[in-house]
Amino acid sequence: MRLDRALGLLREVPDFPEPGVVFRDLTPVLADPDALRAVVDGLQDKIHPDTQVVAAIESRGFLLGAALGYGWHYGVVPLRKPGKLPAVAHRVSYDLEYGTATLELPADAISPGRHVVVVDDVLATGGTAAAACALVERAGGVVTGVSVVLEIPALGGRDRLPGRSVNALLTV
Ligand code: IMP
Repeated sequence: MRLDRALGLLREVPDFPEPGVVFRDLTPVLADPDALRAVVDGLQDKIHPDTQVVAAIESRGFLLGAALGYGWHYGVVPLRKPGKLPAVAHRVSYDLEYGTATLELPADAISPGRHVVVVDDVLATGGTAAAACALVERAGGVVTGVSVVLEIPALGGRDRLPGRSVNALLTV
């Protein structure tokens, strides 16, 4: 399936998770076997060839990261919300519009010098991806890029990722 057709399956959900917000829902894309393949292939096309590990952001990033890891022989490391990991190497908190959020890197997952791509479904304000990059670098990893399916440029995500190679399959 062509990528544009696959991305055409994206669903827009108004007023979720709160009034006035349009949530971009990848569920119908991932649920379609041809669309899933097109999206994962599309992400892989932009991943730097030196990459050894995918750092996948909870939770939809896990699905994409696992597919990439299996398909192209990357290790996969889940970056998790607090309280999920039995052994934490590093923790980064970052500001949201209201309040803060935290991501954790598991212990013994990224060794110094590993080349790591950060993967998620959506890049919005960039806080999550910036925290993911910081976690990788705290462990001594080298961030080769940030790959997402969808970028919402109006929210300025790239401004929080200066100098990073940011790749999105679709911008809205
Ligand atoms: P950011 O930190 O503002 O860039 O938000 C990105 C994180 O929030 C990612 O982990 C996304 O999964 C999630 N996110 C933000 N907006 C959306 C959306 O419209 N659809 C799906 N996920 C979203």
